[in-house]
Amino acid sequence: MEEDDIEAVVDVLRSDYLTQGPRIREFEDSLTSYCGTRFAVCFSSGTAALHGAYFAAGLCNNDEIITSPMTFIATANAALFLGARPIFADIEPDTGNIDVDLIEPAITKKTRAIVPVHFAGHPVELEKAAKLAKKRGLILIEDACHAIGAQYCDINIGNCKYSDMTVFSFHPVKAITTGEGGAVLSNDENFYKKLITFRHHGVTKECEAFQKRKEDCGKWYYEMQYLGYNYRLSDIHCALGISQLKKLDRFIQKRREIADKYSSAFKCNDFFDIPVERSYVKSAWHLYPIRLKDKFKSCKAEIFAGLRERGLGVQVHYIPIHVQPYYQQLGYKKGSCPNAEDFYKREISLPLYPAMSQEDIDFVIKNALETFEMNKSKV
Ligand SMILES: *Cc1c(COP(=O)(O)O)cnc(C)c1O
Repeated sequence: MEEDDIEAVVDVLRSDYLTQGPRIREFEDSLTSYCGTRFAVCFSSGTAALHGAYFAAGLCNNDEIITSPMTFIATANAALFLGARPIFADIEPDTGNIDVDLIEPAITKKTRAIVPVHFAGHPVELEKAAKLAKKRGLILIEDACHAIGAQYCDINIGNCKYSDMTVFSFHPVKAITTGEGGAVLSNDENFYKKLITFRHHGVTKECEAFQKRKEDCGKWYYEMQYLGYNYRLSDIHCALGISQLKKLDRFIQKRREIADKYSSAFKCNDFFDIPVERSYVKSAWHLYPIRLKDKFKSCKAEIFAGLRERGLGVQVHYIPIHVQPYYQQLGYKKGSCPNAEDFYKREISLPLYPAMSQEDIDFVIKNALETFEMNKSKV
């Protein structure tokens, strides 16, 4: 948070609206102009935005989506909300992204949508995914919660050139924040209309959309046409989002510089592999996921604890969704996505955020290498 972020929020508190006022549209407009998309609809979280996107895609009972197991549980859970079933296609071992070649074999008569996740902010092979979606008549939804500010072939993620909808989250761990919040971007007006009504109980106030004859409707009239939710984002949140979005490019630039420094300090080390960046993408560097080399896999817990003891706020992204107890109860099988399961055994995310100083970066590099050095004798 910077002073102007704080002022933007305070301004709303002094204004006539706390929610459903002018800031919402303003934030949506700033998202569409940043991404070059026609429509944006804010939601109360990234999870709510995913739920909205799946609803707009027409996902129903017993339908299937194909997504990555290497993501936050929300990507899959939002399909369960609608009675649909997430099918997990395995990942590429280096990027951690869904392997687009493994999507087609997972398609069945029930498949309705493909949901690639831009893991760690590194865009998925969108062109290939788009060709497949088109060929098989499927809807393509990007879970871009890690990837606002990233580019694929010089196009901003969120542009929806390749996809039907793109989902962002503005949780504080993401590149920009509204406290809690999310959005769906799209170029399709029908998706847009569904998203708008889904966010507010399935209610429409557009007389053009009424099922009752317009002439019979008073000025108070509204219609509930779907079962929707209260998934609105408030003016308070949106004011913060407007202020934060102005800083996104600066934040991403800082993230890229930190990732570069890590990568040059860590290249060719004996302990772990560093993250890759394909030539045709610009990653948003949401995470810096290192992957332990074979011999260190067995002592990941000690290394992780050692890093934490030295004050490094490391994390693990992610426990593959299909091995979670709830998904196991639903019949998902361990061993079904070997690359994701292996990735999980190796992965540790090093601290990476724009406010890091050079001292912070040096501290991470020094302590990370020393921790591995100390564990060398154990392997
Ligand atoms: C954060 C995140 C979500 C969910 O967003 P919330 O705003 O926390 O609901 C979904 N998918 C991915 C990949 C995420 O990182």
